[in-house]
Amino acid sequence: MSDPFNGLRELYQEVIFDHNRNPRNFRALDEATHSADGHNPLCGDQLTVYARLNDGGVVEDLSFIGHGCAISKASASLMTEICKGKSKDEVELLFNDVHAMLTDKHPDRDLGKLEVLSGVREFPARVKCASLAWHTLHNAINQAQEVAKTE
Ligand code: ZN
Repeated sequence: MSDPFNGLRELYQEVIFDHNRNPRNFRALDEATHSADGHNPLCGDQLTVYARLNDGGVVEDLSFIGHGCAISKASASLMTEICKGKSKDEVELLFNDVHAMLTDKHPDRDLGKLEVLSGVREFPARVKCASLAWHTLHNAINQAQEVAKTE
């Protein structure tokens, strides 16, 4: 198996290693209003994402637990850091832009720190690792809405 980090720029590599070693918001959230599980069978990555949204739809707190490769954990860690404090709509826009970035379409705006994840474009099998947390958050904040409608 080839080294997935081979070819990544040094800075990118450093950020991913740092978030993998010390993942931010790596805990379950007792007062989560939304949560979802994500699984990437190709790599074995498994995540649960927890979010607490307030009445105005703003993500007040965001966390994750699980296990997986360095890229899946670093991506989840960066996501919790960056999406906290954003509205649900802003998170959905960011989800679309991150997805575009990972699948080789360049988003219109600068994604800042998240650009470190763009290195996985060179490793198609790793795109799912990097996008897993984002898909899981997307499901979490949309699923609960559906549940709420049926109540
Ligand atoms: Zn993975």
